[in-house]
Amino acid sequence: MDHFQYRDGVLHAEDVAVPDIAAAVGTPFYCYSTATMTRHYQVLAGSLDGTGARICYAVKANSNQAVIRTFVELGAGADVISGGELRRAMAAGAAPDTIVFAGPGKTRDELSQALAAGIYQFNVESEPELRLLSAVAAEMGKVAPVSIRVNPDVDAGTHEKITTGRKQNKFGIPIDRAMEIFDLGASLPGLAMLGVAVHIGSQITDLAPFEESFDRALKLIDELRAAGHEVSRCNLGGGLGIPYGGEAPPPPAEYGKMVKRLTANRQLDLVLEPGRVLVGNAGILVAGVIHEKHEGRRFIIIDAAMNDLIRPAMYDSWHDIVPVRAPAPGAALTEADVVGPICESGDTLAKGRHMPPLAPNDLIAVRSAGAYGAVMASTYNTRPLVPEVLVHGGQFAVIRPRQSIDDLLALDKPPPWLAATLE
Ligand SMILES: *Cc1c(COP(=O)(O)O)cnc(C)c1O
Repeated sequence: MDHFQYRDGVLHAEDVAVPDIAAAVGTPFYCYSTATMTRHYQVLAGSLDGTGARICYAVKANSNQAVIRTFVELGAGADVISGGELRRAMAAGAAPDTIVFAGPGKTRDELSQALAAGIYQFNVESEPELRLLSAVAAEMGKVAPVSIRVNPDVDAGTHEKITTGRKQNKFGIPIDRAMEIFDLGASLPGLAMLGVAVHIGSQITDLAPFEESFDRALKLIDELRAAGHEVSRCNLGGGLGIPYGGEAPPPPAEYGKMVKRLTANRQLDLVLEPGRVLVGNAGILVAGVIHEKHEGRRFIIIDAAMNDLIRPAMYDSWHDIVPVRAPAPGAALTEADVVGPICESGDTLAKGRHMPPLAPNDLIAVRSAGAYGAVMASTYNTRPLVPEVLVHGGQFAVIRPRQSIDDLLALDKPPPWLAATLE
């Protein structure tokens, strides 16, 4: 369920007409709904009621500080993957002791930054990382709270580029080496070995791979405890999918039930790291039509492109695309490709969609663009980053303004051996 609905034939974000935002900020722009984020958070949190599970919002899905702040105010912690995200999460008000730091390549600087901040947990993904963290923590006179991220060798059944839990993926410690690594960690200075983490991929639309990986993690915890380790934490990762088009992902309530069933009476502090399921359907990308081109095939050329939303080009992903003004009843819908202005055939947001006739400056909305949208944008083709707008009831605010071309040009510095052509 989301709060992007038509009223009197005009797409609204909560109580705000999308064309009113377009008139204020121009196109393209991202638009997020507070009510949708809140609802998704509350449904997920409700499904885990009584487990004491901590929800650490995976900041990489949408790292605008206003978005992070919205979840922090609802009670979330944060899951971060870089020193930059750690700074962002803290700047947005996440308490350090609610932050989990994941990722396979944390640098010495990032580790020391997180140790200085006093985060809740490091999810350690390899033996070299464990040794580095130990060394850095010992130097700083700190004790790093550690869970080891294990690779359970489970196929999440999702897109090749976002599956992370098979043994050929770069993530985690092979589960059959986990005991040895835990023993090692317990023998090194500066580490408190507290738990086990799993995360097998993203946009997972079936409960079975989750259950299989959780099961393996919990069995490992039993073995570690039997070997004398005091394991108190289990981190279940993120990855729950959302409906983009035809998918029917498990409802959060079912997911929560399964988590409860598997973890009951195990005396574990649980952490979840959801990203997409909280923000994916809470955002749209609104674009203006530049023109249509009919050359055997119908192309709708819009002012948003692959640099603004790379998911279709990168993951072959489907996004519903709708006109912001509902077509007149009886308007003929014909098949069209919706494309951006970038000189690459990959710059195609959707193929073969049934679309009404559109005129220059008409608005379209790319749905389910709240996760892995703005955060993955680039300035390819010297296209400035587009604004992000947050709606709350009848109000909206620009939470990131549009970059200017001057901003972009000013980033380049001429070397001393070339004439400075920039004024
Ligand atoms: C990306 C990621 C997440 C969030 O994944 P979603 O599919 O957005 O829920 C959680 N944990 C880790 C370790 C990740 O890398």
